[in-house]
Amino acid sequence: APQALRVSDLAVHYAGRSGPPVRAVDGVSFSVAAGETLGLVGESGCGKSSVSNAVMGLLSPARGSIQVAGQEVVGADRGRLREIRTQMQMVFQDPATSLNPRMTVGAAVGEPLLVRGLARGRALRDRVAALLTEVGLRPEHADRYPHQFSGGQRQRVVIARALALRPALLVCDEPVSALDVSVRAQILNLLVELQRTHHMASLFVSHDLAVVRHVCDRVAVMYLGRLAELAPRDALYAAPRHPYTRALLASVPEPDPVRQRAKPRVPLAGEIPSPARPPSGCRFHTRCPMAQEVCRVEEPVWRPVGESMVACHFATA
Ligand code: SF4
Ligand code: MG
Repeated sequence: APQALRVSDLAVHYAGRSGPPVRAVDGVSFSVAAGETLGLVGESGCGKSSVSNAVMGLLSPARGSIQVAGQEVVGADRGRLREIRTQMQMVFQDPATSLNPRMTVGAAVGEPLLVRGLARGRALRDRVAALLTEVGLRPEHADRYPHQFSGGQRQRVVIARALALRPALLVCDEPVSALDVSVRAQILNLLVELQRTHHMASLFVSHDLAVVRHVCDRVAVMYLGRLAELAPRDALYAAPRHPYTRALLASVPEPDPVRQRAKPRVPLAGEIPSPARPPSGCRFHTRCPMAQEVCRVEEPVWRPVGESMVACHFATA
């Protein structure tokens, strides 16, 4: 059976204001199986949102392949993309901007079904009521407008809409970052529950390692357009192999997304270099506490270390 999502050697370039193109994503490969959640983490600007936008067909990669349920997204024309999109849905950071304020919640949730001619009239109303119930809202909420809901409830509406077509893949980009801390855990738990019930694959993009730990089976760590490490969740948090993963974990305030109160323990040193001119050799060498001479010259090979895949000359099991 094909993986729900297979990304191979993906590159995304943006035109630079002057000088070389910005290589936002520069050769990234991973896959996500049905029923699995893969976390994609890194600091802002590392390219993780470019990956999720490329997966959704919202931008054209410079090279590489993206297969959703076995169908190629890269180079697909609009009609083909529309077909593939029934297999993948996205939940963005801010539910306020992903819902039309003049559309009732019921119309928003039912729209994907109506537009594709999959349900109308009584059947559509019943489907919408079932979807609202599934995300913890009530059928009578269908007649209300987004502004009558809290941020958490609006994100539930967005999730109901994303589920309407029973997608094979759910792409979530910072789905709780704009929400009150008090409702984050509820929404994360809902996503986990739905992903399991529907055996969906999920690509979960976040800068927040505590949130990712809460929801993901495996975690991919991205730095300057490349993967630094990819590992099963428990292995990554218990025994991070890449110095960047270790630095990220050391800068996490609290391992609990509900009670983030402590200050960062060890802030990551140094600025992220420009992805238009990434450092030679290992891209992390300008900030790495373990960097040696070879790191400036030779790019580390992506290789297995224990249960993990790591790009570091000195990673050991
Ligand atoms: Fe640090 Fe060198 Fe490993 Fe890069 S290859 S992470 S610079 S030790
Ligand atoms: Mg982003």
